[in-house]
Amino acid sequence: MSDCVFCKIIQGEIPTNKVYEDDELLAFHDMNPQAPLHVLVIPKKHISNIMEAEASDAGLLGRLLFKAQEIAKAQGCEEKGARFIINCKSDGGQTVYHLHCHILGGRFMTWPPG
Ligand code: 5GP
Ligand code: ZN
Repeated sequence: MSDCVFCKIIQGEIPTNKVYEDDELLAFHDMNPQAPLHVLVIPKKHISNIMEAEASDAGLLGRLLFKAQEIAKAQGCEEKGARFIINCKSDGGQTVYHLHCHILGGRFMTWPPG
């Protein structure tokens, strides 16, 4: 999508600090980190949010989540854990309408979210 900031990152039009990339996934550091580790994992396919995903996207979603796990481990979060977050639409606090999973790690996080 031409007006989507994450599609622009995928296209290389906006620079980012990349953590991982393959044919269908991209991971990069959040520009406004909320924890010592704050990485976003996104599909290269533009899916606006988890509500818009289709049954045919199920495999992609599974691989995205497993990649988030691998990144969290590689970034030193295996022992203490991390938080994996997918915000969705207005009530979920989504601001960028291209599906993404946040990985937040390196500090203790409270529950419930505000
Ligand atoms: P959301 O609130 O939609 O779940 O999260 C969107 C996230 O994308 C925010 O944490 C925000 O800091 C991050 N973000 C927005 N624009 C950019 C950008 O251009 N580059 C990077 N690296 N992160 C971005
Ligand atoms: Zn997009």
